[in-house]
Amino acid sequence: MSVKRREFVIGAAGGAAAATAAASSLPKPAIAQERREWRMVTTWPKNFPGLGTGANILGEMITNMSDGRITVTVYGAGEIVPAFEAMDAVSNGTVEMGHGAPYYWKGKVAASQYLAATPFGLNAQEQNAWFQYGGGQELADRVYAEMGCKFFPSGNTGTQMGGWYNKEMNSIEDYQGLKMRIPGLGGEVVAAAGATVVNMPGGELLQAMQSGTIDAMEWVGPYNDLAFGIYQVAQHYYYPGWHEPATVLENFINLEAWQDLPSDLQAIVQTANAAVNQLVLSEFVARNNASLQSLITEHEVDVRPFPDELLTALGGLAGQVLSDLIVDDPLSQEVMQSIADFRGQAVTWSNFSERAFAAARDLPFDWVTL
Ligand code: CA
Repeated sequence: MSVKRREFVIGAAGGAAAATAAASSLPKPAIAQERREWRMVTTWPKNFPGLGTGANILGEMITNMSDGRITVTVYGAGEIVPAFEAMDAVSNGTVEMGHGAPYYWKGKVAASQYLAATPFGLNAQEQNAWFQYGGGQELADRVYAEMGCKFFPSGNTGTQMGGWYNKEMNSIEDYQGLKMRIPGLGGEVVAAAGATVVNMPGGELLQAMQSGTIDAMEWVGPYNDLAFGIYQVAQHYYYPGWHEPATVLENFINLEAWQDLPSDLQAIVQTANAAVNQLVLSEFVARNNASLQSLITEHEVDVRPFPDELLTALGGLAGQVLSDLIVDDPLSQEVMQSIADFRGQAVTWSNFSERAFAAARDLPFDWVTL
């Protein structure tokens, strides 16, 4: 009995001493240091619909979910650094995080471009499934570690449109001599088909189409294309966007800043990205629906599919171009192999699910009448 009492007394005294020590080791300045003021640079014009606004929501979510333990301020392209210097600014720690699209960094680490979109590759749902369950996140983290960053998918445009053309596209030969604005891997494919690929700032595109400096251009899809007014200077609007079947938007975080976060803040950043990833895709789906109606009915745009024969030829060329590009780069090969393996399974399941259902929904019957 007395032994027990003695243990209790010692225990209580020990506890009180520990509590005092803990309190003295947590003075107010240490608590203040836990609040982080982070800056997010983006490759988007400030508040650009869908892309810039998605980055804004990510910043707000992280700030609110962490109750201000991380306060994120978002900057448009050019406010701290120009669009294409965003990665350098995050890599070298000038700022803590950035928002853009992975293909912008192919000059730094070639494998990054395969994380954005692959011609005739994965759609948005499949991209997300690959990141979460197909090894994509781990591969992306390895690619971004080479740039000193942590990677998160942080939005997706969904399937884009094939672009605007001032001539009919009937066969692969029609790309011979075509002057087209089309960036990324899609640009490599149409160049292989004989087109002259042109890159110019977005602000010059309308004038270039109007004057005949370019014959064709792709941008995003109905939502962004309608806002841009491209229908005023182009004759035909082709689909589908075989070159960007799903374009992944990214949040990249300075690796040291990321590793310095306690696990609860890491979970908040991860969860906010997962939410924004879905939210941005949902916004594109909703706004593309409405914008396509407007393009067809109000602006009487000639919307037409690429002929199957042309798509078949482009698909073969895309396979060749993708295979050639990865030859000398083991990391690109590894990423491409993983995407190709995942795509092999996804094509089969998609034929049995989404594709079969889309065909069923399109059959000639009257659905709900209200
Ligand atoms: Ca595009």
